[in-house]
Amino acid sequence: MLARVWSASIIGIDAVKVGVEVDISGGLPGIVVLGLPDAAVQESRERVKATLKNAGFAFPMRKIVINLTPADLRKEGPYFDLPISVGILAASEQVKADLLGDYLFLGEVSLDGSLRPVTGVLPIAAAAQKMGIAGLVVPADNAQEAVVVEGLTVYAFNNVADVADFLNHPASYKPVQLENGVENVHATPLYPGAPDLKDVKGQAHGRRALEIAAAGGHNLIFVGPPGSGKTMLARRLPGILPPLEFSEALEVTRIHSVAGLLKNRGSLVRSRPFRSPHHSASGPSLVGGGSYPRPGEISLSHLGVLFLDELTEFKRDVLEFLRQPLEDGLVTIARTRQSVMFPAQFTLVASTNPCPCGYYGDTIQQCTCSPRQREQYWAKLSGPLMDRIDLQVAVNRLKPEEITQQPTGEGSEAVRDRVQQARSRAVKRFQTEPNLRCNAQMQSSHIYKWCQLDDASRKLLEGAIRKLGLSARASDRILKVARTIADLAGDEVLKTQYVAEAIQYRTIDRMQ
Ligand SMILES: [Zn+2]
Repeated sequence: MLARVWSASIIGIDAVKVGVEVDISGGLPGIVVLGLPDAAVQESRERVKATLKNAGFAFPMRKIVINLTPADLRKEGPYFDLPISVGILAASEQVKADLLGDYLFLGEVSLDGSLRPVTGVLPIAAAAQKMGIAGLVVPADNAQEAVVVEGLTVYAFNNVADVADFLNHPASYKPVQLENGVENVHATPLYPGAPDLKDVKGQAHGRRALEIAAAGGHNLIFVGPPGSGKTMLARRLPGILPPLEFSEALEVTRIHSVAGLLKNRGSLVRSRPFRSPHHSASGPSLVGGGSYPRPGEISLSHLGVLFLDELTEFKRDVLEFLRQPLEDGLVTIARTRQSVMFPAQFTLVASTNPCPCGYYGDTIQQCTCSPRQREQYWAKLSGPLMDRIDLQVAVNRLKPEEITQQPTGEGSEAVRDRVQQARSRAVKRFQTEPNLRCNAQMQSSHIYKWCQLDDASRKLLEGAIRKLGLSARASDRILKVARTIADLAGDEVLKTQYVAEAIQYRTIDRMQ
């Protein structure tokens, strides 16, 4: 007898419906799996056999053919344990097949018959809803993740025996409800436990630069000696960015779901991500990879912040991988069978010492590097990423009297309000340019249109270009940053003081 059960597979962060057909016929006992299964799916045969026996079902000692469709799609992972089990039970008439057409079944099974959670349930739920599937049957630990998507009926179980009982007596089971209620998932929280700017002592310059970066979506590099608080500042950037909208939160959660990183399977990722890969990170771990491509650090920081601490320690060829994603906001991973795209719109924050010993320009400790050593170091800094970074910000160590003081600066919430206002201003200006969402994304034509200078500011900028030997690109960056500073001030006109402040954020150009 033939049974068909629906399941799904993940490609990138998207889900594809997979049919699991099980046919039981006369012939020598054995199980064959057809349709490009990977090793985990092959192993599923043995797991399912043991599971069904241990759960008290009769395992048909006949020929079992399992066919996964579509045939040309590679199927991976343990998603299919549950659908295969259900298929065998239906084909051997141990469960009713009435509901099989309406639900997607997902889950790994243990040998004792219990169900274990799988990754990527949120994207599968989102896709199922679009496909017009009535609902999902998932392991209990995946329930809250699945139920985040509205309009789906989700049933969750702890073991295969319960799933079988549900199929035979559906009326006696209730679908899963969202634990905190839809309202809460949509409207909650802000930044529970996130690092707050109010804990930062001094650092007026660094705080200001963070605010500008957040308001204009600018990438930023902190330049300063060890112990000057570069990391502390960087960690506070996600908390002053506007809260994620629901659709954005869903997108971030999908990526983290596929990567198996959802800490609390029940809820959406509400705060903007902050990722800080070590400088020994490989190219694939940064941009994503693997034979079944998985998102890398740049996608895990999608709509949040990617922090590269000690930028010069990263391998140059690894940083080269970031170039294109920084431009496009996504990364494509090409494989022979299929290419996969992951979103990767992040704000890049980097940090670096000003010289090899770390103390060039420090007020307390003397730099011990030779001019040549410094030059070589700065040449390294002008590497592949620097022309994507708008703000070069000097951070100094605190003075003794600042260290002993209580922090007195503003908290993140107040800064976030200003950031949001500045961003709304920019969005309004870009009404006719749907691809622009923040000032950092402006191209030359936009800069020409929206960053007009009066005579005084033009003279000021010309002077800086001459004195610092700035390129046309660097000058464009100054104009974009000045635009953001004006937006923060609620001004349409680029006044001299805004341009002057923007010129300050060329610390590295000034050193060279
Ligand atoms: Zn030095």
